[in-house]
Amino acid sequence: MVTNDDGIHSYGLQALAKSLSSVGTVVVVAPDRERSAVGHSLTLHAPLRADEITSGRFAVSGTPTDCVHLGVYGLLPKKPDLVVSGINKGANLGDDLTYSGTVAAAMEATLMGVPAFAVSLDSVSFTLDDFLAGAEIAADIARLIRANGLPINTFLNVNIPAGIPKGVQLTRQGKRRYSSKVEKKQDPRGRDYYWIGGGELNFHDVAGTDFHAILNQSVSITPLHLDLTNYRSFDSLSLWDFDSVC
Ligand code: MN
Repeated sequence: MVTNDDGIHSYGLQALAKSLSSVGTVVVVAPDRERSAVGHSLTLHAPLRADEITSGRFAVSGTPTDCVHLGVYGLLPKKPDLVVSGINKGANLGDDLTYSGTVAAAMEATLMGVPAFAVSLDSVSFTLDDFLAGAEIAADIARLIRANGLPINTFLNVNIPAGIPKGVQLTRQGKRRYSSKVEKKQDPRGRDYYWIGGGELNFHDVAGTDFHAILNQSVSITPLHLDLTNYRSFDSLSLWDFDSVC
């Protein structure tokens, strides 16, 4: 099953569905419009429509997470062997992962016990050819997952660099360098408005991170899990006087 957050008409999704058809039977369940940066949101207070545009291609009036939910529990005749989310128009790196609808779709599949990976492309032009090249890499990764299986509760966040990759690196999540940039402007009626995310996208360039791999023209594969517990903090937090709370 293929989904994304850029919407069913995006080049990235088309290229991905095409390349994965050499690996297995592909069903597309994707948002009917762009839903980038919706994170892991689920539609609970509105009806969802799934319009089968052509055979095996569903346009859903919801988020990427809705699509995975609906695909697995409602639209597909059986549980999919793999959910692939992407190819996103733009990399999904470091601290930005929690905003990403692309990554959240893979997360949702993992919660349902379905192997999954998210795939994003760093490019300048984002032409169909760029995505087709990236989609071949995604198909190879799908084959590797079929051959090896994923570790339990683990999904992959794959980022593909612009141009021809030099290789593949297993990476960890990098750290965002925040520029605290919020654009403040005035609308034609003289009222202030704000625009988030206008600043330059920047990360700390540290070896071993997803950002470093992409910067050095390698495909980055970060294994992720959903346990956000910070185990390393237990030692220091256990010294707090919790008896003073209750
Ligand atoms: Mn997107």
